[in-house]
Amino acid sequence: MVQGQIVRCVGGLYAIECGQHVISCRARGKFRWEGVTPLVGDRVELTVLPDGFGRIENILPRDNAFVRPPVANIDALVMVAAGITPRTDPFLADKMAVTAELVGASFALCVNKMDIAEHEPLCRALALAGYPVFRTSAVTGEGLTQLGGFLSGKLAAFTGNSGVGKSTLLSALCPGLNLAAGEISEKLGRGRHTTRHVEIHTLPGGARVADTPGFSVFETGRDVMPQDMGALFPEFRPYLGNCRFAGCLHVGVKGCAVGEALEQGRIAPSRFESYRRLLDEAKGRNPWDV
Ligand code: GDP
Ligand code: ZN
Repeated sequence: MVQGQIVRCVGGLYAIECGQHVISCRARGKFRWEGVTPLVGDRVELTVLPDGFGRIENILPRDNAFVRPPVANIDALVMVAAGITPRTDPFLADKMAVTAELVGASFALCVNKMDIAEHEPLCRALALAGYPVFRTSAVTGEGLTQLGGFLSGKLAAFTGNSGVGKSTLLSALCPGLNLAAGEISEKLGRGRHTTRHVEIHTLPGGARVADTPGFSVFETGRDVMPQDMGALFPEFRPYLGNCRFAGCLHVGVKGCAVGEALEQGRIAPSRFESYRRLLDEAKGRNPWDV
């Protein structure tokens, strides 16, 4: 059996990269019976049949998987943001950081469109949280070398609102990349965003990026318990366990070590605000919990 990684799936036909080759494969029927869907990003074992097509025999254990977009084994989630058209809401960035933490992927912020606007408060908040921050322009090329360096050796995915420049960035990082499928369907009036077709592209430096057109948000399909939320904010971690009350949820009680760190400027107010919003959402889902 040969090992490879799924880089594309169209109409039940999988493109699997095996070293220098890409083999077209179908999945075995057993996956359907077992209710398992092979995902782009999956590392698989396959057999090559006499007609040259392959058959996926096994899916190797996943590092992680998302429900939306359907993709697995992402090493890094890059939040692409912009200061203008559209200006990124810090809450969305923090929510995506939590999503990355939840699946054990690394997270980075990339403020794009630096040629027209900055988003310094967002950069500062996420840098204070310990995340890598890149400032780029897909138009002037600013910051692309640094972003490329971060992506190197990883399988990354871009997330962020429609219009922040995710596909333009990907094309700038990978000259000659053919993202034409989207353009064609746009001309047909259906819009790229209905072509929800995940594909892994290899960049010249060896980094790989999963293009996930039409998905501005990544979802794990998992709920977080209120008491687990703090640990998903890396800058809270040094203080967890130091609060006066066991089970402290860090919302305004005396003797809260996270609250003290916030007052001392070691946690950004916008990050804390996002924590409160996500905590409220988690409490709403688990009303019996607190
Ligand atoms: P996506 O929806 O996140 O994939 O965004 P697109 O890549 O489709 O870009 C949306 C618009 O922003 C397009 O008109 C791009 O030309 C423009 N754009 C992308 N990156 C930049 C940039 O760095 N600077 C400027 N000024 N415009 C950009
Ligand atoms: Zn506390």
